[in-house]
Amino acid sequence: MNKEKKNNIEIYCSICKKNKLNKNIYICNNCKFFLKKKKNIKYNYFNIKKYKPKNIKNILDKYIIGQNNAKKIISTTIYNHYKLINNNNKNIYNKSNILLIGPTGSGKTLIAEIIEKKFNIPVSITDATRFTEAGYVGEDVENIIYNLLQKCNFNIKKTENSIIFIDEIDKIAKKTSNISITRDVSGEGVQQSLLKMIEGTITYIPPKGGRKHPQDEYIPINTKNILFICSGTFNGINKIINKRLNNYNEIGFNANLNLKKKKKKKIETEDLIKFGLIPEFIGRIPIIIKLEKLNKKSLLKVLTKTKNSIIKYYKFLFKLDNINLKFTKKSLKEIVKKSIKKKTGARGLKNIIENNLKKIMYIYPSKKNIKEIIINKNTIKNKKKPKIIKYK
Ligand code: ADP
Repeated sequence: MNKEKKNNIEIYCSICKKNKLNKNIYICNNCKFFLKKKKNIKYNYFNIKKYKPKNIKNILDKYIIGQNNAKKIISTTIYNHYKLINNNNKNIYNKSNILLIGPTGSGKTLIAEIIEKKFNIPVSITDATRFTEAGYVGEDVENIIYNLLQKCNFNIKKTENSIIFIDEIDKIAKKTSNISITRDVSGEGVQQSLLKMIEGTITYIPPKGGRKHPQDEYIPINTKNILFICSGTFNGINKIINKRLNNYNEIGFNANLNLKKKKKKKIETEDLIKFGLIPEFIGRIPIIIKLEKLNKKSLLKVLTKTKNSIIKYYKFLFKLDNINLKFTKKSLKEIVKKSIKKKTGARGLKNIIENNLKKIMYIYPSKKNIKEIIINKNTIKNKKKPKIIKYK
């Protein structure tokens, strides 16, 4: 009976999802033809004439508060990367993959999101801890590329020139005596498995994603031109840096305080090795960028100043009901104060506002004659009612 049931399952083409197929074949002939054709389509890469590093930075500035240094380096790296690709550079060159190190909610993922949205470069965002949770590592690496392929609507050229963002890269550090990492995984093995893909290799992707079956026809994807951005909080890295600096002091170097301060800002590869990244892995990610923790002033700007700021978003939501939503200055400061307590950077801001507006968003759209809702400090602090102004 089971067997019969199995035979009754209908399989559709995993790309067009329309054409019915025989068992164990995953792409229909139409799509196969289409894929081959797409391979030869000239894909319009990132427009380097329009976007010089300064232009890229200017656009990032509209969405990302602070992180000036990070934005400058990223803008230059992206520009250089696509400049080389556009010029069909056949020389062997080392990709400038990027490592972002910074506290939670400082804008690491946001940078990747804005690059995708504003510059039309597909970015696949994935989490390094996912590689450790599934037992068989090689397969997961293919899954990231499969995601990208889907994002690019199975355009192979586009896929091969896009960006992969791997978050929580610090969680696959190997265990060292310095740091306690709660997750009991062999981070070193995972790092090893990522090496080839980051450097550039041809990976054969099952068109359905998931496990490989011997009967499948694979889609070959060359990862040579895919830019990798890795990111993590690297909790405890400061201790490692301090220890290194103290060691310098002990052996008589770096007595100069200014020099010490300057060095403190910089993360050296030896610090990352101490943290648990293997040298081969770090070797493939030459650009290391530190993001700063957002202070009160920056958090206030995140609330109101960016092009898609959280406050603007909620104001817009209420405007659709013809209600003016206002926040007093003190209410904004209170939101920031609460979020600093949470220690989740800008990540907490939305959550705090959402919690406070929940009831208001439920009640007021169905009330009549509401002109204005004013959120004050007490609305945020003690969830007191906002001030309501009605039409006369
Ligand atoms: P992480 O650094 O942990 O990856 P995210 O980039 O995901 O943090 O930030 C979470 C949210 O916080 C973003 O979607 C954005 O709304 C806000 N945010 C974080 N950092 C910034 C920043 N520098 N400028 C503007 N908004 C920010």
